[in-house]
Amino acid sequence: MTTTRFAPSPTGYIHIGNLRTALMNYLIARKAEGTFILRIDDTDPERSKEEYVDGIKQDLEWLGLHWDRVERQSERLDRYAAAADELRDKARFYEAFETPTELDLKRKKQLNMGKPPVYDRAALALSDAEKETLRADRGNGVWRFKLDHERIEWHDGILGDISIDAASVSDPVLIRGDGQVLYTLASVVDDTEMGVTHVVRGSDHVTNTATQIQIIEALGGTVPSFAHHSLLTGPQGEALSKRLGTLALRDLREQGVQPMALLSLMARLGSSDPVELRAEMAELIDGFDIGRFGSAPTKFDVEDLFPLTARHLAGLPLEAVQDTLTDAGVPAEKAAQFWAVTRENITTLKDLAPWWVMMRDGAEPEIDAEDAEFVAEAMKLLPEAPFDDQTWASWTAEVKAATGRKGRGLFMPLRKALTGQAQGPDMSALMPLLQVVKARG
Ligand code: GLU
Repeated sequence: MTTTRFAPSPTGYIHIGNLRTALMNYLIARKAEGTFILRIDDTDPERSKEEYVDGIKQDLEWLGLHWDRVERQSERLDRYAAAADELRDKARFYEAFETPTELDLKRKKQLNMGKPPVYDRAALALSDAEKETLRADRGNGVWRFKLDHERIEWHDGILGDISIDAASVSDPVLIRGDGQVLYTLASVVDDTEMGVTHVVRGSDHVTNTATQIQIIEALGGTVPSFAHHSLLTGPQGEALSKRLGTLALRDLREQGVQPMALLSLMARLGSSDPVELRAEMAELIDGFDIGRFGSAPTKFDVEDLFPLTARHLAGLPLEAVQDTLTDAGVPAEKAAQFWAVTRENITTLKDLAPWWVMMRDGAEPEIDAEDAEFVAEAMKLLPEAPFDDQTWASWTAEVKAATGRKGRGLFMPLRKALTGQAQGPDMSALMPLLQVVKARG
């Protein structure tokens, strides 16, 4: 059965960069009617925070990316210890004692000699007595996985055929000196034991994948299908700025971005399929194909989310926004009329409250100097509120007859005088909601 997982480390909130990872894994699982696991990678007790675990869940729920079960790495430490023992038994695990400074020095020397900075495996030559001395001196060493020096190959769901020379990669550290199990091992144990069949993650994990394939094989597990999506760049292809790269979903939500707008964009961006606003998650699931994504960096422009949000909102029925209208102070008996008038004229739901305030209290009129006389004359012809859906037509006809103005020159100054804006809803429909006209003077 198809099983995928989204495996965030709870050291921060979900941001735009890792949303793609979550979404792709979710879509693969749902399309195959498989299982989607939310795995909390919390082996680092210092940096992992419960508030982020909660935040990650809230963000996924907001988006409708429902998981089938939650797994926590911090509750599986005995499994990782067992795997470590197995690697020791199989002579694929060795203790190394170099300090970070020593490793750094080695790397610099290698680079100076034009060699790749790969760990030289000096620790493999240590005798038991030497290790004892080092341990007494420096405390426990780190545990490194001994890679087989052969080519590691896989067919990547996005990148195609990959072949990496294991000799060009350092033997990965899987357990730190203080005993903390690192992600590289924990993730492999989980993927194997939880039957994960597909792993989609960012292309910054490609080297990890190479070493993890060997670890999975050493532990007798089945290698899942891997796919590595490209990293996001800014709209011009520039590296995503710190600000944008870590743009949290909760900030987007705060700015009024709608889930379906965000999902519609992120489920297709970087693929050969066009980005189209979808009304339902089911449509995104149906049309999803990881094979259509390219390896080139994916341009992301946060501004694209707003037109999609506007279009999504314009298509919503009254029930979907009723609570927002109530919060904005729109009286229940005017809600339907208000929504019909405003739905095409908002970018986010935050724009609703200002429209209502404008209708209730009147807008600050916007009157160009050359129109001042004309507007003053027109205002004398405007009947008293309440207006109805005929008011605009009959009033502007009267104004036209009285002033000789027509077309844009007639309508635009009146719209600006009444609403304070050059753009907005159809005036015939808006007039019945307008309770105060400040331009009346
Ligand atoms: N916790 C890892 C990360 O956030 C998971 C990577 C993976 O998907 O294996 O980078």
